[in-house]
Parts: sequence; C-alpha cells; structure tokens
Amino acid sequence: MTDGRALAIEYLKQQRLLGGDAVILPPISSTPGLRPGSDNLTTAPATQVLTPDAGPGKTKPATDTPSAGLSFDPPAEDLFASDPIQRAATLTDVATLIAACQKCKLCEGRINTVPGEGSATARLVVIGEGPGRTEDETGRPFVGRAGELLTKILEAIKLPRDQVFICNIVKCRPPENRLPQYDEIAACLPFLYRQIELVKPNVILAMGGTAAQSLLNTKQSLGSLRNQIHRFRGIPVVVTYHPAALLRNPHWKRPTWDDVRIAARLLDD
Ligand code: URA
Repeated sequence: MTDGRALAIEYLKQQRLLGGDAVILPPISSTPGLRPGSDNLTTAPATQVLTPDAGPGKTKPATDTPSAGLSFDPPAEDLFASDPIQRAATLTDVATLIAACQKCKLCEGRINTVPGEGSATARLVVIGEGPGRTEDETGRPFVGRAGELLTKILEAIKLPRDQVFICNIVKCRPPENRLPQYDEIAACLPFLYRQIELVKPNVILAMGGTAAQSLLNTKQSLGSLRNQIHRFRGIPVVVTYHPAALLRNPHWKRPTWDDVRIAARLLDD
C-alpha cells in the first residue's frame, strides 16, 4: 500500500479496533494528491455539493456541503466467524435468529419481534429506535402513526416503502415505549450490523437520537450530528429527526425534509 490516505485509513482502523476514539474523516477528493484541509478542498467540484435546494445546473457553493462527520467501523466478520449472526446468509435467517433471541430483558414483554422489512437490495436503509405498540402487535416496523409519516416522507423522495429496508436499533418493544437501555442496544446491535452487511445500502438514514448515537457509537446530541455526512463501514449516514418527534413538533418537518433530500441525493452517488 503506497497511497498515504489508504495507509492512514488502515492505521485509524487499527486504532479503532484497539479501542481508540472515532475520527472525523474529511470528504474524499476526486483530485489525486489533494490533501485534506488544503484550500483546494473547499473548492471541490460542484457535483460533490449536496444541498437540498440545488437542482440540476443549480449547484450551490461548496460551503453548503454538509461536512464530514463521524466514521464508525465495528469489528468485521473475521473476529466472529463462528457467530450464528455472522453466519446468517439472508435477512430471513437474521429474522429467524431475532425471533428466538433472549439476549436481553426486552424478550420478556414482547408479543412479536420486529426484525425489519423491505427490499433485501435496498439502496436506502432507514433505522428507527425500537418497536412501539402497533409494531409489537404486528411484528412490522413503523406501522403506527410515526410509520405513516415515514411512508409519506419516503414517497416524497420517490421511494416506495417496499424499495427501502426499514428497521430499528432494538427489535423488541421497550415497556411503555421507554428509551432502549445500553445493555439492550448492545445485545441487539449485531443483528443490525448483519442486516446492513447483507443489504449493502448506498445510504443509511438514522432517525432520532437513539438510532444515530447507537449506529455511530457516540453520545453526541442529535442536533450536533445533523448536517454532516457520517460513515458506517464506509456507507454514508444521514441523521435526522424521528418521525414521532415530528408529530409532536411540526417545526422539525422542514429540517427533516432537508436531511431526507440530502440522503436522496447520496443514493445515486
Ligand atoms: N418508532 C420506531 O422507532 N420504530 C418503529 O418501528 C415505530 C416507531
């Protein structure tokens, strides 16, 4: 490996495996030899610019580009080659393992597990927090009021629900819809990691603080995670408000729409 950037990435991955902090990576420049942070980078080609208002031939200045955010690489498959989750070859196999899961206390109160649903080849994976009452009753993600709003949001970017893979951080309903606890999230994340590995989406949309913080392994607030393009194992991650929060606070609809349009633009990259 002679490329300095590749070497740096390799080094940072090793540090991360050894327990180091996540790092903020600059955007990848298409100009060979361009150094992150150099003046040239801020005047990167306009086609790289991802702003909600920029239409064809209407690109906005590079200053509007969401900046690079956290990059998170959980350990990859080699360490866990004998783990049944890693060996699950399809989304259905993952769902079967979830249905039998008793790794945390959420299994005690569930009616159904809610593994997620949608296209196995989706370009977009949407991640919420955890099942609510209707989801627990039906075994399907985002089918209550928040789900109806999510469906409308997806239709607005011309993505019918069945072309997306929709899932949650935890696959069983927390009692009274409380926030999932750390041990519950930790127990459930390997299922999500495998789902993402299998679907191989172009973009991940993390909706709400729990989804964003759990996926990116950070305690940073939702507000500070928005307006940046993060990476999960190299896949761009856009962070936005949770649809249930939008039902409570309609003022967040506009910024959510902006975020979702950024995710839509990244889909075709
Ligand atoms: N809220 C979520 O986070 N997920 C669902 O599936 C439903 C509501």
